[in-house]
Amino acid sequence: MWLELYLGVTLLLIVECKPLTNGKHNKLLVISFDGFRWDYDQDVDTPNMDKLVKDGVKAKYITPPAITMTSPSHFTTITGRWIEDHGVVHNMMFNSTTHKKSSHRVTMKTSEWWDNGALPLWITAQNQGLKTGSFYFPGGGANYSGQSVNRVLVEEPGQPNENETQWRENIDTVLSWFTEDDMDFVTLYYGEPDRVGHAKGPDTPDRKNIIKQIDRTIGYLRESIQRVGLSQRLNVIITSDHGMTTIKKKPLVDEIVLSKYVNLFNLVYFELLDYGGFGMITPRKGKEQEVYESLMKAPNLTVYKKENLPENFHLSKNDRIQPIIVIADLGFNLNSRLIVYVNKGDHGFNMDEMDMKTIFRAFGPDFKNNYLSEAFDSIHIYPLMCKLLRITPAPHNGSLSITEGMLVQNGGKTNQMSIGVLASIFVYILFM
Ligand SMILES: [Zn+2]
Repeated sequence: MWLELYLGVTLLLIVECKPLTNGKHNKLLVISFDGFRWDYDQDVDTPNMDKLVKDGVKAKYITPPAITMTSPSHFTTITGRWIEDHGVVHNMMFNSTTHKKSSHRVTMKTSEWWDNGALPLWITAQNQGLKTGSFYFPGGGANYSGQSVNRVLVEEPGQPNENETQWRENIDTVLSWFTEDDMDFVTLYYGEPDRVGHAKGPDTPDRKNIIKQIDRTIGYLRESIQRVGLSQRLNVIITSDHGMTTIKKKPLVDEIVLSKYVNLFNLVYFELLDYGGFGMITPRKGKEQEVYESLMKAPNLTVYKKENLPENFHLSKNDRIQPIIVIADLGFNLNSRLIVYVNKGDHGFNMDEMDMKTIFRAFGPDFKNNYLSEAFDSIHIYPLMCKLLRITPAPHNGSLSITEGMLVQNGGKTNQMSIGVLASIFVYILFM
């Protein structure tokens, strides 16, 4: 009888502990609200985001990769690769030989900027039989080794992106991709609160208003998921690409004008400056040391030779990274010659500055309730998404061990139930 009991218990345990990796995966929606600083919901009334804390997972904050800009950071999220591996090293596409530069929006359909060998999750998932879509998400509009995302909408240059009614329609569209087209994985992108953060500054009533609008949109999303019957089948991750900080201006500070320290015309061959807190410079031949030493004299600026970049930046291996990298101190903008810079807020600063940290929230059938995760690097979102979709990840730099604790199957309801079953059988045996 002991043997029978033992077998019975074992069988029960096998049934209860069966990993959720068997059977069909749930669907996954990833939403990025561009430039959502980690603490933006702390000084605004956000009832829907507050409810999400109880109904899902919240990370204290997440850290973007070392170039805290939209395209580099989003592409790390969707590939799970460091910037030096995926090669999207700036918002602007550039060629340091021809000196051609293309704006952020123009790059959205330019495959040669994105297609550098690192496969984004849309393509990897499609190659394993899933259907995927991208709604305005950076990188979604490109071809990867000749393959494109099943369903793609790309933001056009000049397209406004703050209309709340339009935001709701975008949610309706994405949900219809799940319900009518049976898509498995969709990414959805919103250009706010980044736009307001730049235009008005992060510590303004305008920023608080857009956070309230985002909160209402999250409320609408949750109602809509319920309405279309996806509550039990759709996991949702809400995240972002970087934070935002107030730009320090005269007369409070001496703004950085790089031409005061280095003769850009005579010594510099190519530069990407005047773009927030991060810049790159290619000195003219033989002028490398002179440029480096001159820049070192500029205050409120950190200057790196490419070969001396800190290891944890994960940048130096890529050919697109120029020989000299400059990062301004938090809140200082890089101006090459004149101060023509109108932004009141910006990013691009060191990812270890708290103002550059951003958000991670998640809810759905595979996520625990009321789970507060420690802070983590955004690169670890990738293996989590693969786990949720039950696909084999492409080579990546993330680690599932960082994020899997937020899933129900890891120490969550399933295992607790197994322990409960085991305990009651043990008690039953004891008292038999
Ligand atoms: Zn951004």
